[in-house]
Amino acid sequence: MVRPFSLLVKPASADCNLRCEYCFYLGHCGFYPETRRHRMTDEVLATMVRTYMATPQPTYQFGWQGGEPTLMGLDFFRRVVGCQQQFGRDGAGVANGLQTNATLITPEFAAHLAEYHFLTGVSLDGPRYLHDKYRLTPAGKGSHEEVRRGIRRLQEANAEFNILILVSEANVRDPAVVYHYLCDNGFLFHQYIPCVEPDENRRILPFSIAAEEWGEFLCRVFDLWYAADTRRVSIRLFDSVLALLVDNVRNICPFGSNCCQYFVVEYNGDVFPCDFFVEKRLRIGNVTEDSWETMQQSPIYTSFGQQKSVWHERCDTCPWLWICQGDCLKHRLCTGGGDPRHLSGLCNGWRMFYEHTMPRFRELAEVVRQDRRRFAAESIPRGPGSVPGRNDPCPCGSGRKYKRCCGR
Ligand code: SF4
Ligand code: SF4
Repeated sequence: MVRPFSLLVKPASADCNLRCEYCFYLGHCGFYPETRRHRMTDEVLATMVRTYMATPQPTYQFGWQGGEPTLMGLDFFRRVVGCQQQFGRDGAGVANGLQTNATLITPEFAAHLAEYHFLTGVSLDGPRYLHDKYRLTPAGKGSHEEVRRGIRRLQEANAEFNILILVSEANVRDPAVVYHYLCDNGFLFHQYIPCVEPDENRRILPFSIAAEEWGEFLCRVFDLWYAADTRRVSIRLFDSVLALLVDNVRNICPFGSNCCQYFVVEYNGDVFPCDFFVEKRLRIGNVTEDSWETMQQSPIYTSFGQQKSVWHERCDTCPWLWICQGDCLKHRLCTGGGDPRHLSGLCNGWRMFYEHTMPRFRELAEVVRQDRRRFAAESIPRGPGSVPGRNDPCPCGSGRKYKRCCGR
């Protein structure tokens, strides 16, 4: 019996048209040395989509990532949709996400993403002087201008997008600058990601941030958001805390107690357990040779996943264990010599954040419950057809889409 899972696909492997200094996946460029140019073939694509869509899933979730997945070109993404239409059963829900630097987004590409409702995540670290410190072209030039051009094209096509902000040494001391820059430009969906990268000797690299810096950054962003924007701006981490408080749903993998959450599929069909652990020793199988059920039951996969709940003894008595679950394995294994009981390098930051925000998160959770009760009461007398569609404005007046607000 197959448990629900999603796919994170790297159709161009680690190939990228940029050379961001802090990119963890660029180090994988030599992972498949048989060729310099890595591109998923139509055969691997079709096999992956066909076999995945033959498994029972509430929604078929594809995340297209890299490297830079748009190097595959628009025709590849047309074939993606073609395969999904060919192999999907009637009524099967399909969700596509694309994580991109946006520099190769053409008007036609943006129109395709809009037409098929891809949710595009664009990497943008703030205003030019912060973004251009590490997000560089191969010639060493900043990429900010090209990223903003890609975003404009997404906007002109009415494509849905959110902004992925890597919080590094460059911008960690400027939470208000980053937050206001995004909001002032109308970018209201944010995902903040901590940059913590060790070298091969487990020494933290200089563009990484410390736990206290991460905690301070999150607390300041929370204060700004809470003061004025809870109904206007969506921040992935904050939404996930609320989803846990309101619905008891753990919708980001670090909040889970097991890391058997999804599969990474590399350009040649090789399958791995996690984006941060694409390593030869963790190769679970290949989509052209192994069934999803076999791979899900693989000892490599299950033993990898079980490490999540083997945490440091400090976690046992931590008041935030119910949500933090010892933190992401990346922040434990990479600096802990492969021992999941190593304390997360971000532990003090998470503690600072939860202590500072949880009373207000609990208040907000109660507001969401009240909104839902009011909405349910108001919508019942109006009968069938009164419930908004997922993309309609939320009737609670937040200005957000229903699926991002009370319909969550
Ligand atoms: S290691 Fe981190 S990113 Fe990977 S599945 Fe576990 S929690 Fe998620
Ligand atoms: S905040 Fe620190 S001690 Fe608490 S569960 Fe997370 S990693 Fe463990």
